[in-house]
Amino acid sequence: MGNLTANFSRHEIVCKCKKDCGAEEVTDGHLSMMQTTRNIYGSPLGVSSAARCKAHNKAVGGKDNSEHIATKDSPAEATDHPYENTLDLHNLVTAAHKAGFIRVGIDFKNKFVHLGSSIHHPKPRLWGY
Ligand SMILES: [Zn+2]
Repeated sequence: MGNLTANFSRHEIVCKCKKDCGAEEVTDGHLSMMQTTRNIYGSPLGVSSAARCKAHNKAVGGKDNSEHIATKDSPAEATDHPYENTLDLHNLVTAAHKAGFIRVGIDFKNKFVHLGSSIHHPKPRLWGY
């Protein structure tokens, strides 16, 4: 059970720098699509990264204009979700597209899916890295 939506909690969303940086939220629209993705996916869905302050984003190798970057006044528009195997990956990507995510990136090396909802970034729908 989550305290933000049925399945997601605040502690999964806040910046992991542990410095009270103010990067604590994703947009309501993103959160809603995350929950829809989870509903369609039908299995537990972990969150490996969500909101990041600029310093933490840089520390984890994020791009300067990353959708993960958040401030007190500007929520993040991205979350990363780990997957175990190819079937999970397929089901997660399919669920994310059905839920309305326009930016879905797959990190094959580290085995996670990036879900992005920014309308100010390119919209390739699906890419790998
Ligand atoms: Zn931070």
